[in-house]
Amino acid sequence: MFDLICICMITGMIICGMGNGQILRQGIMALSGQEEARSASAASQGDTGETEGEEQGDLIQEQGEKKKVALTFDDGPHPQYTLEMLAALKERNVKATFFLLGEAVEQHPEIVKQMHEDGHTIGNHSYKHEQLSKLSMEQACEQVERTNRLIYDITGVYPSYLRPPFGDWHEKLDCEVNMVEVLWDIDTLDWSSKNHGQIVEKVLKNVQENDIILMHDGYETSVTAAMEIIDTLNKQGYEFVTVDEILFD
Ligand SMILES: [Zn+2]
Repeated sequence: MFDLICICMITGMIICGMGNGQILRQGIMALSGQEEARSASAASQGDTGETEGEEQGDLIQEQGEKKKVALTFDDGPHPQYTLEMLAALKERNVKATFFLLGEAVEQHPEIVKQMHEDGHTIGNHSYKHEQLSKLSMEQACEQVERTNRLIYDITGVYPSYLRPPFGDWHEKLDCEVNMVEVLWDIDTLDWSSKNHGQIVEKVLKNVQENDIILMHDGYETSVTAAMEIIDTLNKQGYEFVTVDEILFD
């Protein structure tokens, strides 16, 4: 139900909280660093077209450096498909980032524990998927902080990353937490199509180095599509990392 209006658009970062200048600067640097890497790559080719850029990509791969990409899964944990996702990721030794809903965390703490033990990054997707900008400051912060507390109680770690529902941020939100907002580069619309082939095609056609891919772990087709995406992109020289490695490396 929540997914019907889960519309997410670009990758970016905003900080919620006080005393967060350092994180804010890191966030901006990371984002511009990514863009600079892309433009530096183009510039080093002179006035080049995509073909030469691709050749450079091949060269990097030959030198043993992999292109990073991050899978992110929203709205979980789901009692069946999140477990299937975790098992399939483990088989492939892939780490992903899960943005969890507080109310689902309350229902399935054992899955959150396993997710943490498997080495995935756990982020906050609010308590019950409300549009934060439509709430009062106090209510919006409670959605964020309550979910942080629930995740902390299970994993012993406060989440550092927040993906606001619908990618919608409360511009003046001033909660007592330091968090980095994480949006996305590719929206698979997996919740809408529930079509394995369409989900895979959307990613394979559009993916670039350092992209953050938005998926949801509540559907069988998302699990199977994510695994085909992993297997295919691995062969193309990509490695799957958690969002911190995209944003801050
Ligand atoms: Zn969502």
